[in-house]
Amino acid sequence: MDRKPKLGKRRRVFRYHARSRSLVLLCATGLLALGLFLSELVLPPTASISPHTTFDPWIRVALTNSPLRSLSLKSESPVTITAANSNQMLSQTEKLSLSEVIATSNGVRIGDLELPATRIELRVEEDPGLWVNRHLYRGRVQIYRMKDGRLRVVNKVRLEDYLASVVDSEMPIEFGREARIAQCIAARTYALYQLSQRQTHPYFDLYANTRSQMYLGVEYPGPGGQRWAGESRQSREIVNETRGEVCTHNEQIFCTYFSAACGGRTVEGRDLFSDAAAPVTQVDCEWCSDAKLHRWEHRLSLHRFLQQFDREQVLSSEGSIQLRDSAPSILNVEPRDSILLEQQGVVLELQRYEIQQRLGARLLPSPLFQMKLEGEDVVFEGRGHGHGVGFCQWGARGQAQSGRDGRTILQTYYPGTKVVRIVAPSQ
Ligand SMILES: [Zn+2]
Repeated sequence: MDRKPKLGKRRRVFRYHARSRSLVLLCATGLLALGLFLSELVLPPTASISPHTTFDPWIRVALTNSPLRSLSLKSESPVTITAANSNQMLSQTEKLSLSEVIATSNGVRIGDLELPATRIELRVEEDPGLWVNRHLYRGRVQIYRMKDGRLRVVNKVRLEDYLASVVDSEMPIEFGREARIAQCIAARTYALYQLSQRQTHPYFDLYANTRSQMYLGVEYPGPGGQRWAGESRQSREIVNETRGEVCTHNEQIFCTYFSAACGGRTVEGRDLFSDAAAPVTQVDCEWCSDAKLHRWEHRLSLHRFLQQFDREQVLSSEGSIQLRDSAPSILNVEPRDSILLEQQGVVLELQRYEIQQRLGARLLPSPLFQMKLEGEDVVFEGRGHGHGVGFCQWGARGQAQSGRDGRTILQTYYPGTKVVRIVAPSQ
C-alpha cells in the first residue's frame, strides 16, 4: 500500500535519508560491537545448538564507546601487569592507589609507573578488585594505547560474571524474578551471538552501554556520589539458575534485540536491523502499559525543529510549513514510515527514525510517533521507549506480574524459539 499522501503543489521532493547509510547507522547498535579473538571461541557462527555445544566463557567489554585521553585506576589488592599480547611481566605492585593513566610516546603511564608497552593487562589477586573510572569490575582490565594517543579500556570478564551485572544494569529487581530470568537468557544469547559473528574488532566484543547492553560492573557511583551495587545476590542466582541457557531458532542463536518498552506492539526487526532473524518480528504486547513512556507527548517550536534541517538547505527555518503524516493510528506507526514537510512547493520526506536520530532520544524516546502542527509548535505523540524491536522489558515485567515464567515470556517476544542449555568448557 502506498501510504504517501498526494500533494497538489509538489514540485521537488528531497529525501533526507540515504537508505543504506541509515541502515548502517542503526545497525551500529549491534554490529559495531562485534569482535573476538577467533582462537578463543568454541562456538562457530552457524553451528547448530545442542546441549553439547560449548562456548568460550570469556568476553571483552569496551568500557567506553570511544577511546579516552586518560582514565583512573585503583586496586586495594596486589596487581600484576603484563603485556597483553605476549604475557611478558611488566610490573607487580602491592596495591594501586587511585592513579591517572595516560599515553606516553612508547607506552602508557599509570601514576608514576612508566610501562613501555602499548597493550597491557592488569590482574588482581582478589576478584573483584579493579576500579576503572570509579566502577568496580571482575576479571581483568586491558588497556590499549591507540595511535592517536588515546586509550581503549577493556574489561575481560567471564560471561556469567558479566551477565550478573547486565541483569541488574538492564532491569531493576522490582520487575520480578521471572522477567529477569527472561532478560538474563536474552542477554546471554545476545552476547554469544555477537561473539559468533566474527566481524572482528581486535580489542573487544561488546560495549558496556545500550550500544550493546548495559554493564555497570560490580559497583558504580550513583548520581549523589554514593556507591551503588551493579550486581546482586538475586542477579547471581538467576545467572546460576539459567547457566548456559540461550534462545534458539532452527537450532541457532540469533541477535536477541530488546528495548525498554514497545508501547503496545513491537517493531518488525528487519525494518531496522539487517541481521534481524525471523523470530524478531512484530508482536502485539498488552503488558507494558505501566511504562512511564508507554505513551508520551513532546513539543518543540517549529523554528527550532526546522533548524535541525538547515544544513541540507532544503527548508528555511524562518518560514511556515505544511506537514503530512499519513499514519492511521499510533499503534500502526513504523520507524520507516515517512512524514512529508512542504514549504513553498518544496517537499522534504523524512522517515520517523531519521527524525528521532536528528532530534535525539531525550526529545523523542522512540521512533514510533505521529507529528502534527499546533500554532507555532510541532507536537510529537509517541509510544514506547527505545527502538521497539524484540523483547519488551516493561512487557516482561507485566507478564511476570501475571504469573508467566521467564522462558514463556521470552518466547512471547521471539515466537517459535526454544530455550536450550549449552555448556562452557572450563566450568
Ligand atoms: Zn511492550
